[in-house]
Amino acid sequence: MNKSYQNIEHKRQDGSIWFNDLKRKREAGPKLQAKRYEQFGDETKSVHSGQYDDPQTGALGTPIFQCSTFFLNKTSYEAIEEGRGRDEMIYTRYGNPSQWSVQEKLSALENAESSIVFSSGMAAISSTLLAFLDKGSHIVSSRDIYGGTYNFLYEDLDRYGMSVTFTSPTDLTEIEAAIQENTKILYFEALTNPLLKIVPIEGLVTLGKKYNLRVIIDNTFLTPYNVKMLDLGVDLVVNSATKYLNGHSDLIGGTVSGSRKLVDRIWPQLLKNGGSMDPHACFLLERSLKTFALRMKTHNSNALKLANYLENHPKIKRVYYPGLPSHEQHKLAEQQLKGKNSGMISFEIEGGDAKAHALLNELKLPKEATSLGGVESLISLPYNTSQASLTKEQQKAIGINDGLIRLSVGIEDIEDLITDFEQGITTIFK
Ligand SMILES: *Cc1c(COP(=O)(O)O)cnc(C)c1O
Repeated sequence: MNKSYQNIEHKRQDGSIWFNDLKRKREAGPKLQAKRYEQFGDETKSVHSGQYDDPQTGALGTPIFQCSTFFLNKTSYEAIEEGRGRDEMIYTRYGNPSQWSVQEKLSALENAESSIVFSSGMAAISSTLLAFLDKGSHIVSSRDIYGGTYNFLYEDLDRYGMSVTFTSPTDLTEIEAAIQENTKILYFEALTNPLLKIVPIEGLVTLGKKYNLRVIIDNTFLTPYNVKMLDLGVDLVVNSATKYLNGHSDLIGGTVSGSRKLVDRIWPQLLKNGGSMDPHACFLLERSLKTFALRMKTHNSNALKLANYLENHPKIKRVYYPGLPSHEQHKLAEQQLKGKNSGMISFEIEGGDAKAHALLNELKLPKEATSLGGVESLISLPYNTSQASLTKEQQKAIGINDGLIRLSVGIEDIEDLITDFEQGITTIFK
């Protein structure tokens, strides 16, 4: 157990000081005169939360504050003096109303006090992790993790005098055994790529409490529509907004959400690493989020129908989908997702990678592309995309079998998608 963390936790329970000496009262924001609609459902929050309707012009909807800097005044000088730059309009890397508006919408959707948007998912992840690590710190993470994150943990932490242990994301015993004296963070992805393993979040939260660790979860594959990580007791949730949150395959972005105290600690790291979100990208993200709940509902229901169809097809050897009773962790999925689901499916086709490639060529609707979460179905093979850095042996060892296909199910007409798969599979086996 880490001594200094114990100390801090103790002080916190005393009600005296927190991690740093920011003793000021914290607002949930930073915010505009924009409401969160906190008591409403996700469909309503998606549309209304955080939107800034300009009182001066009467313009409906958040304007794009396309500026790098703001007029200084008494309030902003005071904020600079007191280190409250996050709450004031000073300079766009510090904060901008376009960022705050979409941050408020995200906070509403995540049930979070506070959020920050970043220029990419990796900017969100690297800044969040570095904010809570010192020289000598250790992280426990997972072997089934996004490639960019894996590279950051594996290649870069060492250079800063930090270290990582990779474990199975579903084995709480292995995870607990990996915790060391200097461990600060448990970092996992809620639904893994590409085998769609469900990570036992409540078990991680229990370990986090027991050893006084920060539990940080990448929820990109599930999104706050399917499960709200903070409600499960996670400290911070990160997302690649590039995927479902934006949902139109036309933007790169990232988010972090949590308590204002923790998110405030990430903000200075954002200033140093520099991955703040551009105002125009904020506009696109906020606009896209208006249909977030609507899109997610269709992603989920389309995926469930397509997973059922594929599972019953004689040429499909195996389907990985948490919503199917055949999924190894179906019970945990039901319990954690409470009736929600996932828009991602992976499946193995007869005839290995050759037939998998043939199918990708034959399909008319799903686009052969990496990434996920777009309105259009996206399809790729993990062996030569997300897991391409592994040898065939290593791929087999982690369950990436011959013929494995990853499908991000879009919001097209489900009958059209099924018909397309039917013709594709029939053609390649003729
Ligand atoms: C895409 C992705 C990221 C990285 O996000 P970028 O926006 O590409 O930087 C991180 N985690 C997961 C799970 C992802 O799918």
